[in-house]
Amino acid sequence: MKTIAIIGGGFSGTLTAVNLSRMSDQPLRVVIINAKRPLGRGTAYGTSRPEHLLNVAARNMSALPDFPTHFFDWLRTRVEFNDMPDKELREMFAPRRVYGDYLRGLLATVLNPIDTRCQVHVETINDEAVDIAIDDHDHATVLLKSGESVEADQVLLATGVQPPSSFPSDAPLGHDSRYCADPWADLQSKLPPPGRRIVLLGTGLTMVDVVLTLGKLGWEGKIVAVSRNGMLPKSHFRGIAYEDYIPENAESLGLHGLIQLIEKHCDRLRQMSQNPAIAVDKLRPHTQRLWQSFSKEEKLEFRGKYAARWNVTRHRIAVAIHDAITDALDCGRLKVVAGSIEKLAPNEQNIEVLLRDADGAEFSQSGDLVVNCTGVQSRFSKAGLPLFDNLLRKELVCSDELDMGLLVNDDFAVIGGDGQPSQVLYAMGPLLLGQLWETIAVPELRGQAMRVAENMLEREPVAVEEADVIEYYI
Ligand SMILES: Cc1cc2nc3c(=O)[nH]c(=O)nc-3n(C[C@H](O)[C@H](O)[C@H](O)COP(=O)(O)OP(=O)(O)OC[C@H]3O[C@@H](n4cnc5c(N)ncnc54)[C@H](O)[C@@H]3O)c2cc1C
Repeated sequence: MKTIAIIGGGFSGTLTAVNLSRMSDQPLRVVIINAKRPLGRGTAYGTSRPEHLLNVAARNMSALPDFPTHFFDWLRTRVEFNDMPDKELREMFAPRRVYGDYLRGLLATVLNPIDTRCQVHVETINDEAVDIAIDDHDHATVLLKSGESVEADQVLLATGVQPPSSFPSDAPLGHDSRYCADPWADLQSKLPPPGRRIVLLGTGLTMVDVVLTLGKLGWEGKIVAVSRNGMLPKSHFRGIAYEDYIPENAESLGLHGLIQLIEKHCDRLRQMSQNPAIAVDKLRPHTQRLWQSFSKEEKLEFRGKYAARWNVTRHRIAVAIHDAITDALDCGRLKVVAGSIEKLAPNEQNIEVLLRDADGAEFSQSGDLVVNCTGVQSRFSKAGLPLFDNLLRKELVCSDELDMGLLVNDDFAVIGGDGQPSQVLYAMGPLLLGQLWETIAVPELRGQAMRVAENMLEREPVAVEEADVIEYYI
């Protein structure tokens, strides 16, 4: 019987297993290897905190592209939403732990199928994959940290969001209780007494989660959030139906032409007293295609000059969450500081964060606790992940030209060091950030999980109507 190993049991790995299970008409064994984050839930939906909400409305969060209302229909089965009218439920930003329940429930249906005709056997292993060996007959052996191994005919790399980057430090911080390298794992146990100061490294979505949790826990003290640009995620809003203004030949515009076009539509929306983010949302169905048409220099320019603005505009937060952050700023509980983080300097009293402002001047912020809320490593090949260090060394994979992740072909088969697509290895999700740019949120990942399953099973793709991925509500 053919075996497919899936490394990573977050949204991407789970949904690929679900799709393999519902699409395969041949006997098949699927082994999900997952470590560190909760199985089925992964990084984003593994939180147990009720204040951590989805940043996409329920109507857009179906895990299955061919059943666009699947998540909404599932929410309807939950008693706590009985009294909520359909319209409100569709626009709701559900708690992420509830979405985790949805994914875990989907996984349960394939681990223990009630349809006795199902020919797919799915099993899970709680272990870290550290290497893959591929023999001359294209047979793979996935080596696990425990010393065990899994034999497979095909392997999907669905390892998701990389751990945040670390910072230079005057002293090792690994065992320093005043440093929290992983806010998802050990924030609460490290909180300083009330009245002290917490410095958050990063001003993005993870920082927002941490500020909300500190509020919910009733922690009283000052919070300082620092990032290079000091930009905070913007809020969702009520928008308008707006024209699809991206021309079919938009690739020929190049980065500068495209920016001009977007700015023109942002201005037009402002003149109409509408939110210019509508113009950015309209790009979404075209983003991967346009990103791939850019030269390396254009991609670098976009990342350096526009990515921060893009991120806060594209990855917006629920209005209620934005209000809570604004309140924290207004009452002085939270302060946002712009500066590049140079290094961390632990001393007897606290940890000093040494920063440099836009004019090159040095300054610092000290915290009784410093929490790393930054995003992924800027260089994938230097992230120090054992699995990828081994795969890169053996040239079974290669990193993209910006070194943000891996390269795949149109079928999601991994491109090796020889430039050829692998017959065995596939990859999806945030690992493809450098190649696709827009490959993080559920509206993109659900389509990938289906395409990857179809490709691994060598099936013709099922035609799926593009779901509505516009983020504002009308
Ligand atoms: C905090 C947060 C909130 C988000 N909110 C939303 C939202 O509201 N709406 C939306 O559309 N998108 C959201 N996203 C984006 C998106 O949904 C997630 O990034 C998505 O869940 C990614 O899923 P994944 O399975 O690819 O990766 P992950 O969720 O990171 O899962 C990967 C899994 O693989 C494991 N793993 C990694 N390496 C190995 C290894 N070598 N061996 C074994 N296991 C390994 C990891 O520990 C993890 O369990 C959010 C992302 C984050 C981080």
